[in-house]
Amino acid sequence: MDAEKQGRNFLASVDHYFDKAAAYTNYPDGLLTQIKICNSVYSFQFPIKKGNGYEVVTAWRAEHSHHKLPVKGGIRYSEHASSDEVVALATLMSYKCAVVDVPFGGGKGAIKINPKEFTIEELEKVTRRYTSELIKKNFIGPAIDVPAPDYGTGAREMAWIADTYQVFNPGQIDALGCVTGKTIPQGGIRGRNEATGLGVFYGLREACDSEEDMKAIGLTKGIDGKTFVVQGLGNVGYHAAKFCIEGGAVMVGVAEYEGGIYNKNGIDLEKLMAHRKQNNGSMMDYPGAENLPNREAALELECDILIPAALENQITAANAGRIKAKIIGEGANGPITSDAEDILEVKNIMVVPDLYLNAGGVTVSYFEWLKNLSHVRFGRMEKRFVQNTFDRLIEYVESATERPLTSEEKNRIAHGADEAELVYSGLEETMITSYHQIREILKQTKGMTNLRTAAFKNAIDKIATCYFELGIFP
Ligand code: GLU
Repeated sequence: MDAEKQGRNFLASVDHYFDKAAAYTNYPDGLLTQIKICNSVYSFQFPIKKGNGYEVVTAWRAEHSHHKLPVKGGIRYSEHASSDEVVALATLMSYKCAVVDVPFGGGKGAIKINPKEFTIEELEKVTRRYTSELIKKNFIGPAIDVPAPDYGTGAREMAWIADTYQVFNPGQIDALGCVTGKTIPQGGIRGRNEATGLGVFYGLREACDSEEDMKAIGLTKGIDGKTFVVQGLGNVGYHAAKFCIEGGAVMVGVAEYEGGIYNKNGIDLEKLMAHRKQNNGSMMDYPGAENLPNREAALELECDILIPAALENQITAANAGRIKAKIIGEGANGPITSDAEDILEVKNIMVVPDLYLNAGGVTVSYFEWLKNLSHVRFGRMEKRFVQNTFDRLIEYVESATERPLTSEEKNRIAHGADEAELVYSGLEETMITSYHQIREILKQTKGMTNLRTAAFKNAIDKIATCYFELGIFP
């Protein structure tokens, strides 16, 4: 299927989910339309010198909703990008931010290139040119629109964006807040790199911790001991797998671009990553697992949890009937098409939806933006103070009880949190609280059948409240 058609289908799926949730509300049609449509899309082309010639590159930035500012969302570098895909992703960002109470509207950008075919110098040129095009149209800025990493981009690209923005905006004190997911010396925050995958783990752990919900799909409580398959070993998939394994889950299969592998007794993630590096980037023929006939086969493996963490439209009406997982945790944006979802529901498969489950990235982006605006590292002011207070408390307890604590006990109690610990704790709190919000909506709403509809309804309610408060829709 061509990229345009894929993008159209993706947007149609997102809109379908919206309509399904909107049916559980009583808002006027005009308000629902305003929440659903994309406010603005900037589409542009520019030439860059590549090899001995020139290439004309197509790019977009979509700002779905300005009900809160800035708008926020990643930039992807993908040869499959299309205008509808960018709009669908920007739309999901608005709802995602609402679900996890991150006070931003939704945005998304894309450059239609295959970054693997570009040298680092060429990528830098593309990124800087893209940024200056956004600056020209006022589509970037700490109070306007704040990009972040997405498929095919990372901290390096974000650092180039921040640098370009600063060059064009000399003296703007909050300029570093124009983009998140940056390197630490460029104003990034500890924990952002692994945030999306860590959020996926916190969300799945929370879902598995409900005895009632697990029983309903024939599983026992807890993530410990559950088997899982991950699709995609990029930043999201790798970290989701890493934290799930640390939480006691067993990785039995992996799907990647080059194929699929399986071992029912578990695959060692770090050894697999090392093998992939030595094997020209391919995980095939890994000694600790068997090769599957193709990558699609990995999605259909017997397991408790399937984590699609690559791209959209991976589970469609064509393969949904063959999925054997009991839970699907959407690490990627839009991996399940809406017709596939109906099939999964009949099969009693629990879907933990993207707009909640992969919101860890934007949550920690929010923390990074706050850090940039406050110009101080989280924990800097209070870490030592907290530690000293606890030390004095321990001294008091020791003298009152005449029982000196061991140094291990002291370390456990007397500890001021550093930036990474605060970020982890803020993310954990967000994922737990948001999970219970959507679970409660699902339980309380008559006729509602899945967490995705509950999450969409939660987002619609929160965005509608903003419009009511603005007095636009009395
Ligand atoms: N690209 C990520 C997403 O789809 C992160 C967005 C952000 O941090 O702004 O959620």
